[in-house]
Amino acid sequence: MAKIQMKTPLVEMDGDEMTRIIWKQIKEIVLEPFVDLKTEYFDLGLPHRDETDDQVTIDAANRAVELGVAVKCATITPNAQRMDEYKLKQMWKSPNGTIRAIMDGTVFRAPILVKGISPFVSCWKKPITLARHAYGDVYRDVEMYVSDKAKAELVVTYEDGRVERKTIHEFKGPGIIEGMHNVDASIEAFARSCFMYALDIKQDLWFATKDTISKTYDHRFKDIFQEIFDNEFKDKFEEAGITYFYTLIDDAVARVMRSEGGMLWACKNYDGDVMSDMVASACGSLAMMTSVLVSPSGKYEYEAAHGTVTRHYYRYLKGETTSTNPMATLFAWTGALRKRGQLDGLDDLVAFADKLEKASIDTIEEGTITGDLNSLMDHPNKKVVNTEEFLKAIAAKLN
Ligand code: NAP
Ligand code: MG
Repeated sequence: MAKIQMKTPLVEMDGDEMTRIIWKQIKEIVLEPFVDLKTEYFDLGLPHRDETDDQVTIDAANRAVELGVAVKCATITPNAQRMDEYKLKQMWKSPNGTIRAIMDGTVFRAPILVKGISPFVSCWKKPITLARHAYGDVYRDVEMYVSDKAKAELVVTYEDGRVERKTIHEFKGPGIIEGMHNVDASIEAFARSCFMYALDIKQDLWFATKDTISKTYDHRFKDIFQEIFDNEFKDKFEEAGITYFYTLIDDAVARVMRSEGGMLWACKNYDGDVMSDMVASACGSLAMMTSVLVSPSGKYEYEAAHGTVTRHYYRYLKGETTSTNPMATLFAWTGALRKRGQLDGLDDLVAFADKLEKASIDTIEEGTITGDLNSLMDHPNKKVVNTEEFLKAIAAKLN
């Protein structure tokens, strides 16, 4: 059988620990036998990040901006314990943070749904994709404990000397205050990424804030979304047969819980933090959660939502075979290959990505699963296999 050809290479960002092992297995077992894989390889494994003073992460992100589509393996974000373990020169920053800053993107997360593993919310039939704004609000706040009677004020000093002030509160005794900010440019980039990604996956976009209470701050989010929608996306949404829906955050939560899913839900930073954990845990396993970073100019970086699965890696190092679930990492590859195929007009590459996803979902639905799914799955003859056996079962289906 002739292998499927590619035109433009994918930016391939390798990573750490168990996911690095799975990365290689995915390529060898389910990709390379079928596709003449073209990638530009960047080793973001922690030892190589340390060797290059993290330059490799910056180079990879810049190349992703140039080529448009990247696929990334999970990577270690160093902490004190990793400094010792890997004898690092420095506590390097989170690669995902570095890449997100360079691509200026928004992260979209969606669960892979399979029959037999039902979401805890029984009406959810289709995946809910969640987009979290990754800048500002409470994550960049300034807080103060007020220890006694005091007047707290908001003061803005403009470059030209104008000053605006508002009283926050006249304290009669001890209390607390918090200052938050966001910037139009970041909200605009977030909005564009969301509208673009909704068109991409052809799903309705929902956005919610608390603008009835926060009449300037949250209202600004609402206005920016509406303006960008009206000026740049309204016609495209109509053409695609999807809608943009704005409501209050509490109403959105109530509606999502009663819905059948199948929407893209854009959230402010804090709402996204809370709601993504809710959607993820309601859908069962972290190993079944996909993630893609989309820049407002339409560049894509696909990855799994989980980390490097350290506990499994330490068992692997002792010579044990592990039953680590490769689904989210595999879907990072299919997402990237499909997008590359669409951009380059390669129908057979797009079709391959579809077939590979279907083969892997069918494999699970027929009862061949990894250990993490065992307690979640209802199946008369399930068989828990190791990672390699699981991937080989998928490859057999593809053949
Ligand atoms: P993790 O790697 O996501 O793993 C946490 C636990 O979740 C695992 O021990 C395992 O549970 C389960 N799990 C996650 N993925 C699985 C899979 N594919 N198959 C089966 N089980 C899976 O999180 P962590 O242990 O907190 O973090 C490990 C490292 O990953 C850290 O160094 C962190 O910096 C990094 N990290 C990277 C990213 C990223 O690159 N995007 C994201 C998060 C964390 P059991 O042990 O019970 O089987
Ligand atoms: Mg969280």
